[in-house]
Amino acid sequence: MTIRRAKIICTLGPASDSPEALVELIEAGMNVARLNFSHGSHEEHGERIRRVRAAADLCRKEVAILQDLCGPKIRTGRFEGGTLSLERGQEVALAETSNANAVADESTVLIQYPGLADDLHVGDVLLLDDGRVNIEVVEAGGGKLRARCTQAGTLRDKVGVHIPADRVRIETLTEKDKLDLSFGLSQGIDFVALSFVRSAAEVRLVRDICEAWGRPTPVVAKLETPQAIEHLEPIILASDAVMVARGDLGVEFPPEHVPVIQRKILGLARLHQRPAIVATEMMQSMVTAQRPTRAEASDVATAVFDGADAVMLSGETAMGNHPALVVRMMHRIIVEAEQSSFYRPSGSRAVAERTRVAESIARGACEIAKSVGAKVLVAFTESGSTARFASGARPTAAIIGLSPNVKTLRQLCLLWGIVPMYVEHLRDSDEMIQRAHALLLANGFVAPGDSFVAVFGAPVGVAGTTNAIQVKVVE
Ligand code: PEP
Repeated sequence: MTIRRAKIICTLGPASDSPEALVELIEAGMNVARLNFSHGSHEEHGERIRRVRAAADLCRKEVAILQDLCGPKIRTGRFEGGTLSLERGQEVALAETSNANAVADESTVLIQYPGLADDLHVGDVLLLDDGRVNIEVVEAGGGKLRARCTQAGTLRDKVGVHIPADRVRIETLTEKDKLDLSFGLSQGIDFVALSFVRSAAEVRLVRDICEAWGRPTPVVAKLETPQAIEHLEPIILASDAVMVARGDLGVEFPPEHVPVIQRKILGLARLHQRPAIVATEMMQSMVTAQRPTRAEASDVATAVFDGADAVMLSGETAMGNHPALVVRMMHRIIVEAEQSSFYRPSGSRAVAERTRVAESIARGACEIAKSVGAKVLVAFTESGSTARFASGARPTAAIIGLSPNVKTLRQLCLLWGIVPMYVEHLRDSDEMIQRAHALLLANGFVAPGDSFVAVFGAPVGVAGTTNAIQVKVVE
C-alpha cells in the first residue's frame, strides 16, 4: 500500500460543499479541510463543518478542519456598473468608507479602511486586485486624497487593496476575526490560521484566546507580510505551524523573491520542527483544465522535495470544475516525488527540552525501524507528541499514529508521514502490540513476515510518558 507522506489541504467552497463532493474529496486524499472566513456566514460555515464531520465518518478517515481567519484584508467599495477602468496617468479621488456596499462615482475609489486619509502619504503606492492595477498617492491633506494610476486595468467591486504594510494601523486580529474565532472554537475547529501576521505577539494572542475559551488549538501563522519575513524566526517559534501564503506574499514582494522566501521558511520551519504548508496557485490551471501545467506539477514536487508537511489548494477545490480530480492529480505528483531516488527528507534537530525522554525514544524508534527494515512505525499517542516527534525525524517508515483521543487524531492530519487511526483505551503493552498487529494487518499496512516498531509509554494512557520501544514480526 502506498502511503503519501506530504498532506493535502483543500479549501472548501461552492464546488465542494455537497455531502457527495466532500466524500469524493476525502476518498481522493484530502487530509485537512480549510474554511476561508474571508467569505461566508457563520451559518454557512457551521453547516460546512457538520458536513465535513459526517463525510469523514462515512469514509472512516480522519479529516482536520482549519479555520482561516480573514485578518485585516482591506477592500474597495463598489463601482457604478460594477467596474471602473483606469488608464495610466488618470487621477482619482480616494475616500474612506465603512459600508462595504457603498457605490462610488467614476472619479472616486472607495476604500474600506478607517483613517485612510491619516495613514496615507504622498508617494505611497496602493496595489489593487493583487497588483493588477496600481495607483500612487499624489495629493494628501485636509482629509482628502488623490491618486494617479501607474498600472492600468479594470477594477471590479470590492477587490483587495494592499496599502504599504508599515502604514497599516489595523490590528492583525480584527473584531470580525475575534467573533469568527469564538464561533470556530464553539464548533470544535482543529487549527486556526491567522492572516497577515506581523509579530510573534500576535500569534501568542490567538493562542491565549483559545486557551481562555478552554479550547487550546494549534495556531498556524500565515506568512505573507514583509514584517513577518523580517521577524521570521520568532514568529515560527511562537507558532504551531506556518503557511507560505504565496498569494499575498507575491503582492508584497516581486515574483522572483517568492521562491527564495519559500525555501527560507521551509528551512527554518524544519530546523525548529514546525509543520509548514505551501499554499496558493499550486494547481491553478486545474480550476478549469483537466491536467496541470508542467510548471504546476514541478511546483508541487518542489515543495515536497523541500520538506513541506502539506500543500494547499484554494480556488481549485473551492470553486473549480472538478475538485476531486485535482486532489487525485496532486496525490500522484506527491507520491511520484516521494518514491523517487531524489527524495531524502532531512529530519530536524531534536527540539524538546521538557520532553527530552519522549523525543529521544521516538527518534530512537525511527532509527531502529530503519535498521531492522520495518516499513511501519506505530506511535501510541495521547496528546500527539510522540507521533509528532517521530514525524520531525522524517523516518523512512510510515508512521501510524494510534490514539483514543479524536482531537489528537485530527491534529495529526496536518503532519508529514502520519496516518492517524483511532484505537480504544488499552490496558497494557501486550494489549497494545496485539491491537497494533491486528490493525496493521486489517488495513494492509503490513503482511506476515514484515516487522513493525511500536513506540509507547507506561503507565498506559498518560500523556508524556513515552519510554518504550518494541519490535514485532508480523505473524
Ligand atoms: C495567500 O495569500 O496565499 C493565502 C493563502 O491567503 P488568502 O487565501 O486568505 O489570501
